[in-house]
Amino acid sequence: MMRMTVLASGSKGNSTVVASSRTRVLVDAGLSCRELIRRMAIAGEDPSALDAILITHEHLDHVAGLAVLARKRRIPVFFTEQTHRAWVRMLTPKTTMTYAKWLDHLQKEKEEEAARAAVQESGRSAEDLCEIPAVSLEDIQAEAETPAAARTDPAALPAVEYFRAGSNFSIGDIDITPFTIPHDAADPCGFVFASEGIRMAIATDLGYMPPNVKQAIAGSDVLLLESNHDLEMLRDGPYPWSVKQRVLSRVGHLSNHATAEFLSRDYDGGAAYIVLGHLSESNNAPELARISAEQAIGDRMSLLGNRILLAEQAQPLESICL
Ligand SMILES: [Zn+2]
Ligand SMILES: [Zn+2]
Repeated sequence: MMRMTVLASGSKGNSTVVASSRTRVLVDAGLSCRELIRRMAIAGEDPSALDAILITHEHLDHVAGLAVLARKRRIPVFFTEQTHRAWVRMLTPKTTMTYAKWLDHLQKEKEEEAARAAVQESGRSAEDLCEIPAVSLEDIQAEAETPAAARTDPAALPAVEYFRAGSNFSIGDIDITPFTIPHDAADPCGFVFASEGIRMAIATDLGYMPPNVKQAIAGSDVLLLESNHDLEMLRDGPYPWSVKQRVLSRVGHLSNHATAEFLSRDYDGGAAYIVLGHLSESNNAPELARISAEQAIGDRMSLLGNRILLAEQAQPLESICL
């Protein structure tokens, strides 16, 4: 048995529960912790039963409630190393320096460099010089054990695990394959989840469909696929030109047209469900996305195959169980 419950999908927040009979993971936490828990309750998912949170990329619509949820429920978080770093940077308050402070900082750096060179010449290890050790991620994780640490460090998490695109890993009895997607984030990934012979894939936030994504999601039984915008609505819509360019770019979002092209040309036809997700509220209409995908799938739609569902921003979708 496998189950997918889309709690939210779109530019105001994304989160999906993927579960086997023994394991439950949350993919992205892009709503507030309170709202995520509320939606899980509506959808019949138990937040305290989550084994892990997996993050696709560090954009706010995928991580908004991450730190609070992970800390409150003590759930380990899986990122790529680059995504984790980008997320920590995002949460760390930026310190602005005055010019005088900056000059002082440069002078100190020079002195440290000279001292380091002198020590290296004398054959001692350069590490001996560190009076104040730099805070490592392990330190952050260790400190996060105490609630006080969470207050002082907004990026504190109970546990962090790294994965790499292209390298399989397992959580409980779910086998997970992360794959690289073309998107303007540090190291964005989609996922394929497999358990007991069933495969579920998540591929949203991608500017186009590269061969590695087509290959990764082939053979999926449930496919959550982006259908972000209608090209004409985006062109004529309210976004400033620079944002339109970003959405349309090779590292932006998949249009209804691009999704339909994939479904008609490259898709193997084997999924029980195709869930269209990350629909733009300004530049798309659910019926346009649906019609576009239905036409692309054509006569392959049936009672048992290729049923099309539309993920929603405002409320969870009924769980898909296979
Ligand atoms: Zn997004
Ligand atoms: Zn994004």
